[in-house]
Amino acid sequence: MRSIAKLDLQYAHRFYGFRGEAQYLHGHTGVLTLEVEDTINEGVNMVFPCNEIQKTAWDVLQNFDHALVLREDDPLLPAILKVYEEQGIRDGAPTNRQRGPAFKTELATAYPECRLVVTKETMTVEGMIKIVYDLLKDKLNIVKITFTSGMNAATEDFEPGGTKERCPRCGIELVEGACPKCGYPKV
Ligand SMILES: [Zn+2]
Ligand SMILES: [Zn+2]
Repeated sequence: MRSIAKLDLQYAHRFYGFRGEAQYLHGHTGVLTLEVEDTINEGVNMVFPCNEIQKTAWDVLQNFDHALVLREDDPLLPAILKVYEEQGIRDGAPTNRQRGPAFKTELATAYPECRLVVTKETMTVEGMIKIVYDLLKDKLNIVKITFTSGMNAATEDFEPGGTKERCPRCGIELVEGACPKCGYPKV
């Protein structure tokens, strides 16, 4: 069975080198749907709590929310960094509190201090699915990711990663045999 969680990401980007309107900077509300597959955990009668999927995903993906996503070779990148630098917000601002941990994968690097994500490939809906899977595949048993952004959408299926042992009280994955939330089975 599958547990399905959704989250919203508002971001700005452009398709550098593309011939259509999307070569100009513009914004979207993207909706990401994550499908996690496993057996039903008898204790809680769930595969995995959807709010926990959301929390795990949001921890990393909040770096894309209210962020600018640019390809590494886009000449807008040094131009924007120059403006941020001159404005004194390149290394952060007191009002920029919604920050996930900085990450760097082969496909994307996050700079949460200035709400910027630099990607290797153009951030299309397909490109976003590749980035998200890469960031979350070791944390969740993801079997499907769908990403919609305006009228655009893409979806991809992934191989199930096998079953994980979960807490019968909280439904979350056990870490070294114990629940990180309630301490099961120790308490
Ligand atoms: Zn777009
Ligand atoms: Zn627990």
